[in-house]
Amino acid sequence: MFAHQGRYSGWIEVVCGPMFSGKTEELIRRLKLVQIAKQRVQIFKPVIDDRYDEAYIMSHSAQRFECEPVSTAKEILDKIHDNTRVVGIDEAQFYSEEIADVAVKLANRGLRVILAGLDQDYKGRPFGSMPTLLALAESVLKLKAICKVCGGLASKTQRLTTDQGTVVVGSGEAYEARCRACFDPDLSVERAVPALPLSKKKKHEPELVKKAEASL
Ligand code: ADP
Ligand code: MG
Repeated sequence: MFAHQGRYSGWIEVVCGPMFSGKTEELIRRLKLVQIAKQRVQIFKPVIDDRYDEAYIMSHSAQRFECEPVSTAKEILDKIHDNTRVVGIDEAQFYSEEIADVAVKLANRGLRVILAGLDQDYKGRPFGSMPTLLALAESVLKLKAICKVCGGLASKTQRLTTDQGTVVVGSGEAYEARCRACFDPDLSVERAVPALPLSKKKKHEPELVKKAEASL
C-alpha cells in the first residue's frame, strides 16, 4: 500500500495482455505474497468465465486460487468484508463499466485493488472497461505471450473460429496468442491459417524471438 503524506492509501494495479500471457499467473503470484504478509484478501471472477472450476481462478498452466464468482461488479462491493486489505479481480474485461467505479471506491477506502484482464478483444479493439481501468490505475503491467505462428512476442489474441460475438469463452481450441505481424482480425475461414506467407514470417522471427526473450 502507498504511504502518502503520512497516511496509508489504497491503489489500483492492472495486469493486462493477450490470452496466455500469464495474467492469471501474475495475479496469483501477487495474491500469494499478500497471504504471506498475512493480509486479508478476497478474489473475484465473473460467472461468465466458467471454463474451469467455479470457485477458483485458474491459469492455463493449472495454477489456481480460491475465489468468489460474481454476476456484476457491484456485487464485489457488497461482498467485501471489513478486514479485507487486498482485492483481486480476474477477467476484468467482462464486467460492465461500473467495474471502474467499484475499483475507485475500494482504492479510496484504502484497499489495494489488483485487476487482471484482456486489454484487447479478438479484433484488436480495446476491451470493455479496460482502457478506463488502465487510465485510473497507479500501476500497469502489460504482459506478452508467445506467438503461435512465429514464436515471437504476442500482444494479440487470435480467434480461430468464425463466431462474431465479442465474448466467446474458450481457451486452447478457440484462441491463440499472436504477434502484430501474424494477427489477422478478419480471420473467417479455417483455424490457424497464417496471416503471412511462411517466407515473410521467417524474416521477422529471429528479431522477435530475441525481443521476446528480453522482455518476458
Ligand atoms: P492468461 O491469464 O493471460 O490467459 P495464464 O496465466 O492463464 O494466462 O497462463 C499462462 C501460461 O500459459 C504460461 O505460463 C504457459 O504455461 C501457458 N501458455 C500456453 N500457451 C502459451 C503461449 N502461446 N504463450 C505463453 N504462454 C503460454
Ligand atoms: Mg487468465
